[in-house]
Amino acid sequence: MSNRYDEKERRIHCAFSEKCGGCDYAGMKYDNELAVKQKYIEELFGEYVKVDDIVGMYRPIHYRNKVHAVVGLDDSRNVIAGTYEENSHRIVDTSDCMIEDSQCTDIIKDIKELIASFKYQPYDEDAGKGMIRHILLRKGFSTKEIMLVIVTAGVAFPSKNNFLKALCEKHPEITTIVQNINDRRTSMVLGKRNIVLKGKGYIEDVLCGCRFRISPTSFYQINHQQTEKLYKKAIQLADISKNDTVIDAYCGIGTIGIVASKKAGKVIGVELNSEAVSDAKINASINNIKNVTFVNADAGDFLVEYAKNAKADVVIMDPPRSGSTPEFLNSLLKIKPDRIVYISCGPDTQARDIKMLVKGGYKVTACQPFDLFPHTEHVENVILLSRKA
Ligand code: SAH
Repeated sequence: MSNRYDEKERRIHCAFSEKCGGCDYAGMKYDNELAVKQKYIEELFGEYVKVDDIVGMYRPIHYRNKVHAVVGLDDSRNVIAGTYEENSHRIVDTSDCMIEDSQCTDIIKDIKELIASFKYQPYDEDAGKGMIRHILLRKGFSTKEIMLVIVTAGVAFPSKNNFLKALCEKHPEITTIVQNINDRRTSMVLGKRNIVLKGKGYIEDVLCGCRFRISPTSFYQINHQQTEKLYKKAIQLADISKNDTVIDAYCGIGTIGIVASKKAGKVIGVELNSEAVSDAKINASINNIKNVTFVNADAGDFLVEYAKNAKADVVIMDPPRSGSTPEFLNSLLKIKPDRIVYISCGPDTQARDIKMLVKGGYKVTACQPFDLFPHTEHVENVILLSRKA
């Protein structure tokens, strides 16, 4: 069976789903999946507020603009590339995927063949030997720019020019190619060092009318269409006006803060990843935005210091799946912003954090889930907290 999409029921059928484990809801009608996700958010937040209807996708396929494949060998020593089988380190050779951008899937297929024909050895985790570890692709939804990151175990890249020539002949649409060196025995995909092999070393995309640079290690939302709806809602809930000081915590490349800055007095973004902060600063300047500053720090450390002598009217926070920290949340309670907009891709940790903010004097006044990850178990959620009168 090959992969296919049932247009009427918005259901995907995937030949790899059982082994890959990425799409827990493969085979289920999309409306039913949305109902499951809605119920989950209602269970977590229904005690505080009426949960608005989840915003799903009209055509929930091929939405992932970031595609990652591990490279390895199968039992017959053929080169394969795909995802790790659930809870294991066996690679599932996903030659087709219903949620990834199709152009990226095709590029990976051809790279796999080139790796074999150039006789490059995939990296063997157990032995700590071999050359090619991962392939990472990112595509700008609006600009169509494509970045390929080839993760290698060392700097050596024999016959590099011939390899690049063969690849670019097949895929001239790849606008930039970066070699990333990851020489550590780790499950982290990317190492510290990047060597630009072609183009600018980053891509740009347009989101909510602003232009953004995205470097290899920077975070960027993987579902462009849904992210635009999510940001629009978050900024609407934040109800920002020209006198407001806004903090954009866990800001990545500055997307939310930059989009929000047009309505605000000033915006301060804080982010741990230094490469993302460099992107954010450049992004402010590309968009000719002057009222935003970005700080490279742990959001909790930053807020502890900030709370000592400064105020903010609005805090928008968008932490990773593990949620925020007591340091951050306690400082937030000291700063006492009028409104907190909490965006989360891990609603269970969001619920834990919200409990603390509610205890500290905030009231949950809106809750709106968004399906950013159709067919997978993941769901994004936006919550507005306001200070109790
Ligand atoms: N708001 C951004 C990024 C959200 S993802 C967007 O929508 O694109 C979460 C971000 O938090 C990532 O960029 C990650 O690098 C950053 N991060 C993770 N831990 C952090 C910490 N302790 N302090 C600050 N930022 C952190």
